[in-house]
Amino acid sequence: MNKKEFTVNPMWLSQAKTLSEALPYMRRYAGETFVIKYGGHAMGDVQLAKKFARDIVLIKQVGIYPIVVHGGGPQIGEMLKRSKIKSEFVDGLRVTDKETVDIVEMVLTGTINKEIVSAVHAAGGKAVGLSGKDGQLIQAKKLQRPKPDTDSNIEKVLDLGFVGEPTNVNPNTLTSLIESGITPIIAPIGLGENGETFNINADTVAGAVAGAVGATRLLLLTDVVGILDKKGELLPEMTAATVKAAIQDGTILGGMIPKAETCLLAVGQGVDAAVILDGRVPHALLLEIFTEHGVGTLIRDG
Ligand code: ADP
Ligand code: MG
Repeated sequence: MNKKEFTVNPMWLSQAKTLSEALPYMRRYAGETFVIKYGGHAMGDVQLAKKFARDIVLIKQVGIYPIVVHGGGPQIGEMLKRSKIKSEFVDGLRVTDKETVDIVEMVLTGTINKEIVSAVHAAGGKAVGLSGKDGQLIQAKKLQRPKPDTDSNIEKVLDLGFVGEPTNVNPNTLTSLIESGITPIIAPIGLGENGETFNINADTVAGAVAGAVGATRLLLLTDVVGILDKKGELLPEMTAATVKAAIQDGTILGGMIPKAETCLLAVGQGVDAAVILDGRVPHALLLEIFTEHGVGTLIRDG
């Protein structure tokens, strides 16, 4: 009699294998806090946004505590255009007058924040949206960025208006949310000493939050493959020293500057590793966290 062989669909096998191979990573990271900056054009793509929300829910389900900080550059730009307000960038930071900061706050905390919260709920998770004003999460001051004056050698300070930097991140509200099984979704708005609203670069906020909660990893999703060298090739791994050099010699420019600086700060503050990764890749977060295939630039102290 012929023994009937039961053949399993190779696709199913490969799915089971992928899950099984994720086990060591799940065990390694269980109970740890990851801060994830969500931004770039990946955020505006409906399908990618759904996948991102699902990934966040999965990460939480396997025992990691995610905290999301989001940007909103393209959406803010769109709203400013519609309101006929001109806007310019210096070193990747948006010059922000009073009129602009009102729009920035409205788009970030009103529209985008709630979209992400809703997407996490739609994917079966629990999330609460906060801006830096909620629960005194982010106290901020006006950003002081020196601009060397090549003519006179006198350092001038760039005036970017209501662009702020965090002076203090109060982790209490975040801790309470996390302990209740809720994923915090943070809009990068800070509150000044005199009640001013500050627009803060979302990468900078992600770094400050990671330091304040003692996160193990900082993951910055963007819309490039990672940090590129002068020839335009991906640098898969960098140390703090090589990142500093790349900022100094102008390899890292524009919006990549606050990202690189944030990674430096984070690894200097004890975050194990900071990663800049390509949010255009579907499930970039899962690839980065649960497989041996990194999809960006990993930065460690050293
Ligand atoms: P996000 O919305 O994710 O914050 P940004 O536009 O602020 O994105 O920053 C990413 C941009 O930084 C890239 O699109 C790229 O134009 C620029 N950039 C400057 N230098 C580099 C570099 N060395 N490697 C990669 N990107 C760089
Ligand atoms: Mg940016």
